[in-house]
Amino acid sequence: GLSFEGLTHAFGGAPVLKDVDLAIEAGEVVCLLGPSGCGKTTLLRLAAGVERPTRGRIRLDDREVAGPGVFVEPEDRGVGLMFQDYALFPHLTVMENVLFGLRALAAADAQTAARRALARVGMEAYARVYPDRLSGGEQQRVALARAVAPRPGVLLMDEPFSNLDRRMRDLVREETLALLREMGATAVVVTHDPEEAMRIADRVVLMRKGAIVQAGPARELYERPVDLAAARFFCDFN
Ligand code: ATP
Repeated sequence: GLSFEGLTHAFGGAPVLKDVDLAIEAGEVVCLLGPSGCGKTTLLRLAAGVERPTRGRIRLDDREVAGPGVFVEPEDRGVGLMFQDYALFPHLTVMENVLFGLRALAAADAQTAARRALARVGMEAYARVYPDRLSGGEQQRVALARAVAPRPGVLLMDEPFSNLDRRMRDLVREETLALLREMGATAVVVTHDPEEAMRIADRVVLMRKGAIVQAGPARELYERPVDLAAARFFCDFN
């Protein structure tokens, strides 16, 4: 699992995350939902280790990875990342992109793991192709293969299905969810789309202005919103 305790983060000015407490169980798929600027991406970046929290602790599978005097570098956290600004490397083929995440393995094992991951997302035939030859949906599938190939226990995804047309988004989303369930992985998915959260999350965490306003199964948030703003947020799509 993954947990945040008293997590506060500021980029110099006023904090953008304020005393966030959240415990995500192993195997749970959680969606971070909320309006633009509420701190979703920052929370994910702190979990990934690309940002160091101002205050508070982060635990990954009972190991403290950030806290007073403790900071584990991103590459040593063993989490899979699918971030918007973490696109495929354009100068590497599809296969090389997936192999990049498997640097720690012996070459033969890495090849096997990469092929398996590509096959799982239906992109085996594109192994030697460069990313710019692929459609958006295909690129996202490869990014997914790259993230899951090392079989991480925790996957962090920031708007992983954006930039796709509706049909492709539904497809890649279903595939991703099936893959997460198959691996039994813990996943934190950032979205600003309530419908998406409803579809994939075991638990939805609704954020506003750097704080958690409500957390629970999507149905609960929908039927018993904590306040008017939360109700409006969900009604927008219904
Ligand atoms: P969006 O849905 O638009 O991606 P978000 O909920 O993910 O929004 P964050 O990206 O976490 O929100 O941003 C939270 C706040 O922190 C915003 O006010 C943003 O401007 C600010 N912020 C984020 N990154 C930085 C940074 N590197 N330096 C300064 N301020 C930042």
